[in-house]
This record gives sequence, structure tokens and C-alpha cells, in this order.
Amino acid sequence: MLPKIVDDFLSLFYPASCFACQAPLVSGEEMLCVSCIAHLPYTDYHHFTENKVADSFAGRVPLVQATSFLHFYKGGKTQAILHQLKYRNQPELGVFLGKMAARKYETTGFFKRIDGIIPIPLHPKKRAKRGYNQAEQLAKGIAVSTQKPLWPQNLVRTTNTTTQTRKSRFARWLNVETVFEVRDMTELKGKHLLIVDDVLTTGATIEAAATKLLAVNGVSLSVFTLAHA
Ligand SMILES: [Zn+2]
Repeated sequence: MLPKIVDDFLSLFYPASCFACQAPLVSGEEMLCVSCIAHLPYTDYHHFTENKVADSFAGRVPLVQATSFLHFYKGGKTQAILHQLKYRNQPELGVFLGKMAARKYETTGFFKRIDGIIPIPLHPKKRAKRGYNQAEQLAKGIAVSTQKPLWPQNLVRTTNTTTQTRKSRFARWLNVETVFEVRDMTELKGKHLLIVDDVLTTGATIEAAATKLLAVNGVSLSVFTLAHA
């Protein structure tokens, strides 16, 4: 990565480009160009209690409501955005998208009904390597816009290293993928929590986290992900 001073210097000559289509941004645009913002593949699932995301959790974990902000198509704009967010050191893009979703959902009450926001944690090692958790960045944007509390410390991802050595590779993978712990049950008691993650694929990660959170007395859950694969 370039030192900041070099980066600032270069940006005088090379204006920032849109994270979805790479077109140069013009004055007043930030992160995404106006055209991309107008034409992103929005799911609009938040208008419907029953939708593909909610359906994918049916019979697995009970949810109040669930949505993904964008459809994911291979080679599409959502993929470009996710790539920047996850691998190109763009934590502010997450905050930007979280705020964007909050504004778009404002009239529907999707976020109004929740008490607090819980991003899906990364493995501590992965987080240290990336420098940030993209789910937490999205959650931050939602929290700022909705003025709902963000609780990023309470749900933690752990790996049980003592028993892992005796497990098969697949079992280890399963273990690593699904071990979550709630640190302080009293903080979450009776709350309607919004789980936030970047992409929804099989839903196994969210299901594992949700199962732990639902073990807390009186907790109800909703889910928001940036993208639905
Ligand atoms: Zn664009």
C-alpha cells in the first residue's frame, strides 16, 4: 500500500473512481457514481415480510424480518463493490453502503423496529490481517443513520484449538465456520437484534450466530446483508 502522502499526491492527478464501474467520480459524487447508485440491483425485499432471504431461513431460525440490500450476479456491480469492501482496504465503503441502505429503508420501518445492531464477527486473525471487519463497517453506517446502538463486541467468534487437531479437515472447517459465543447475556436480554453481514450464501454462518443469540432470554432477530448470492 502507498503511504498516505503519496496517495494524496496521486489523487490530485488521478481522481477517485466509482467502486462499482470504475468511471471517474465527478464533483459531489462519493464512492459510487450517480448512475450506479440509480442502477444497482436492489432487491427491495425490505418491503415484504416474505421474500427469498426470509424464506431461506424458514425452518432453521425464527426471524422477525430479513433482507439483503443487493442481488449478487457474477461479474456484476455488487461483486465489484464486495471485492473493494473485502479485499481492497476500503472500510469507508462499508459505512457508506450502510448509510445508503438506512436511507432507502427509512420509510418502511425495517430498522425502526430493532433495538440494537450486531455485526457478524470475523475470526480475530482475519480481522487483524484485513484491519477491519466489513460487516461491522456496514453496521456502523446503519447505526449512524438510524441512531440505533451498535454492539460489535458481544458476539465473538472463537476457534477451539485444543480439540481441532484431532478432527478431520472438513470437521475443522465446520468448527471454524460456526463457533460463536455471546459474552454478556444481560446486555442483550429481551432485545430485538439486527444481525448484519456482507454476503448471504448458504446462511450457515448467520444461522450459527442466530442460534447463539436466540439462546439469550427474550431475544428476537432480524437479518440484513449487503448482498444475496
Ligand atoms: Zn459507477
